[in-house]
Amino acid sequence: MDNVFDLDSAIRKVPDFPKKGILFYDITSILADPVAFKHCIDSMIDAYRGERIDAVAAIESRGFVFAAPFADRMGIPLILIRKKGKLPGETISRKYQLEYGEAEIEVHEMDVPKGKRVLVVDDLIATGGTLKAATELVVAAGAQVAGIFGVVGLPFLNYRSMLGGVPIKTLIEYHGE
Ligand code: AMP
Repeated sequence: MDNVFDLDSAIRKVPDFPKKGILFYDITSILADPVAFKHCIDSMIDAYRGERIDAVAAIESRGFVFAAPFADRMGIPLILIRKKGKLPGETISRKYQLEYGEAEIEVHEMDVPKGKRVLVVDDLIATGGTLKAATELVVAAGAQVAGIFGVVGLPFLNYRSMLGGVPIKTLIEYHGE
């Protein structure tokens, strides 16, 4: 990956958001900087050069903004994984645990290409709980998970053990808060 661009300085860090003790890695500062945003999409393209990626599945909502230009540049289908109740067609859904309570995501089953290799994308991988539920949806809909991509990774939250053997790529990792 391109090490020349300083991606770290393009990511705004907001202490104690959304609650005390959390350091929030805010990617809106990447989106507001066209050079940084282009760097991210170029790096995603580079990261998967030579791999067979048939489609990309994006997690609402910040996953959408990175997955959509990637899908466009790769010329592959984009599948939206949304919070429960947003998709009008026939869906399959998965519940997963949050730090407090539970969340549910879903996908249009008909949008997932059966037997194809799908890359699952979010902006940031923390515990990996959201991405695990998303990969389960992709598999339940009849596709294979080709990999997981996050712009930012927080490996100290142990997402690798949560996500098992699926290949994970990130553009930048932070090792503590
Ligand atoms: P998780 O399921 O724990 O991997 O959480 C992933 C989701 O929560 C992603 O969609 C992130 O956007 C968001 N998230 C969790 N922790 C942070 C953080 N420290 N900074 C920014 N976003 C976060």
